[in-house]
Amino acid sequence: MKNDCTRCGICCRLFVINLTEKEYKSGKYKTQFEEFGLIDNFRKANSCAANTLKQKENGSCVYLKDNKCTIYKIRPQACREFFCTSKEKRFKKMIRQIKKKQVSFYNEFTEL
Ligand code: SF4
Ligand code: SF4
Repeated sequence: MKNDCTRCGICCRLFVINLTEKEYKSGKYKTQFEEFGLIDNFRKANSCAANTLKQKENGSCVYLKDNKCTIYKIRPQACREFFCTSKEKRFKKMIRQIKKKQVSFYNEFTEL
């Protein structure tokens, strides 16, 4: 199946994005707990989720603005790999969550 992304931004609101070691150590991305500095040992960083992209108070990715990714060209590998139309097993649970969210958006919209 073609990986058509309509850029609805739902996945950027629902999921925490893990950076690879290279991405984390590049210092290019805003991360959770960045105020405490980069952790040299990536396994340690990973175990306390310091290698995850910073989120806004509402839980969406800090780089999501007006439903668009403001760092699209350099978005992390995790974002590049995921598509909600994917048939890959590893994404099954995430896709289920997206579908649920789509249904609740639809219900909110039709109740207006
Ligand atoms: S991958 Fe799917 S959920 Fe994520 S922005 Fe694109 S269409 Fe929306
Ligand atoms: S970096 Fe961009 S594509 Fe990735 S979650 Fe944030 S807004 Fe979405």
